[in-house]
Formats: sequence, C-alpha cells, structure tokens
Amino acid sequence: MFEDFPVFSLVRISTDEDGQNLFGHLSSTTRDKHKWIDDNWAGFLIDSFQFIYGRWSKAEDGWFFWPEEPTDLLVEGRDYVAIDGFWGERIELMFAPFTWSSAIFALSDSNRHDHCFYCWATISDEQNTEHMKSNSGEVACVNCFEGFVESKSLDFICYPAQTPYELKL
Ligand SMILES: [Zn+2]
Repeated sequence: MFEDFPVFSLVRISTDEDGQNLFGHLSSTTRDKHKWIDDNWAGFLIDSFQFIYGRWSKAEDGWFFWPEEPTDLLVEGRDYVAIDGFWGERIELMFAPFTWSSAIFALSDSNRHDHCFYCWATISDEQNTEHMKSNSGEVACVNCFEGFVESKSLDFICYPAQTPYELKL
C-alpha cells in the first residue's frame, strides 16, 4: 500500500529530558515530485499500520524525528514508511482504532456547517446532510467514506496539500 512512499531508515534512538529523538536517513523528502517532508514539519512514521506522530528536523548528515509520545514500537536498524502530517492524519483515520458511524448534520448556533476531512465538501443541513463521523470527531462525506476509508484507498492524496482541493472520484 505504501510502496512509493519515502522510507526512514532508523539508525539510533536516544532519550533525554525533551523525550525521544530518532536519528536516521530518508530515502526521499518528496513523493510524486512534491515536497513531502521538510525541516520542522509534522509527520508520521508507520509500522504495521500503527501511526507514530511527531516532527521532523534536519540534521547535518540525516534527519531527526521527534515522536510526540514516547514509543517502544520502533527498532534501530529498521525501515519505516514516512508520511507528511497533513496526509498522514487522513491516512491514520482509515485504520484502527478509529470507528465510524453514520450521522445526520444538526444545525446549531455553534455549528453552521462542517467540512469533509478528505475532500473538504461542505456538510450542512443542505449538502451532505447524511454523512459519516469518526469516534474522534472527524466527519467525511459518504463518497469519501465509501471511496477511501472503507476501501482503504489512498487515491485522495493530491496536491497541493494544505489547501482545500478537488477530488476526482
Ligand atoms: Zn468528501
């Protein structure tokens, strides 16, 4: 599933008062010719569909990755799939431990509309009223849920990231 993603080869795990600090080498900082990892960007390392969230920092001769929470999943000398923070959040949500249930949008003073976490479509009492909601609170339109989340497809990844984008389903 992640064949064409950059790989982080973990050389060394250190722990100090700031937490865990992983040093290693990246096979690439781009994916599909687009920037995927950069200094001080949030990101994920994936091991057997477990997602480790953290932040990248460039070193002279490699990269540091600072996990937000200490993890004992990682082993020195092994390779891990590296994903940028924006797309990683969306990919993570496709896998356990998240569960989804169907929901109907309820208009309130504090919430006039939501946006699909994948395609940014409006979810309101007029559009995509019936939608899906995860146990962590993210919402998705039915198209994205069926096309990506349920079918475990990464085809929602497109560029540029960080901006609302259009999907071709
Ligand atoms: Zn959507």
